Amino acid sequence: MGVEDPSGQDGDGIPSWYDGNRVAKARVLLVGAGSLGEETALALYGRGFRRVLMVDPGTVGRDDIGHLALVGEEDVGGFRSEVSAKNMAASTSCPGFTYHVGRVRELEGWNFEVIVGCTGDTRTRLFVNGRARLYHIPYVDTAVDGKRGKIQTVLAAGPCAECGMNRFRTRGLNARPSFEQPAPRRRVDPQTAKVVASMASEEALRIACGRQDLCTKGVVYYDGADGSVRTISLNVDPRCSNHEGERWKQTLKSLMQGTGRL
Ligand SMILES: [Zn+2]
Repeated sequence: MGVEDPSGQDGDGIPSWYDGNRVAKARVLLVGAGSLGEETALALYGRGFRRVLMVDPGTVGRDDIGHLALVGEEDVGGFRSEVSAKNMAASTSCPGFTYHVGRVRELEGWNFEVIVGCTGDTRTRLFVNGRARLYHIPYVDTAVDGKRGKIQTVLAAGPCAECGMNRFRTRGLNARPSFEQPAPRRRVDPQTAKVVASMASEEALRIACGRQDLCTKGVVYYDGADGSVRTISLNVDPRCSNHEGERWKQTLKSLMQGTGRL
């Protein structure tokens, strides 16, 4: 096929570790049913996910028509998560796309193998990030602002989404800012949303197949204006409250090393 592939995939582009059964059974929480959330639902379906709970409190506005992949004129006024999940289930004959109309903090059971965040609301992202850390559920945090996209996979160890937000807020690096600020955001560019959704669903696939070791490290930025991708490395922010257990373990480890017992 003329494309050298160092990742060990076979000729169909299917990784050797892909386990369709595990992927189909994996319970996914998809937070946000805007244009990025809908593209992510489609990308997850395309990769074999069949159990996806879509959560969003918003309704479909007339302005949304033409920007949302899964809704049409007749859905104006309906709840985003409900119409998206229903239309998804109807078009794919897959009943596993379900919905919750409301805020993600209303959810009672957090019985998921993976969470994908597709909401532009920073407070919601921080809440989901905290819950994911608390319950040890891998979390793929995504955002799109205009033609710029961002993806960070948060695992049980290592930096979380809040660490990233803290760093970029204080360091003022030149690529990320509007993702973490309350300023009005630009409308999500549909092509950028597709790319970010595709990347996020690949991360979810690795997690569902037990290959967290293959997940992207750091924060990935995609620029839809020139198609460039860059990854910025990230460490745990010592001020971040989501790493109490890790800090304690680290202290214990250094104490043990100090006494020569490790
Ligand atoms: Zn953190």
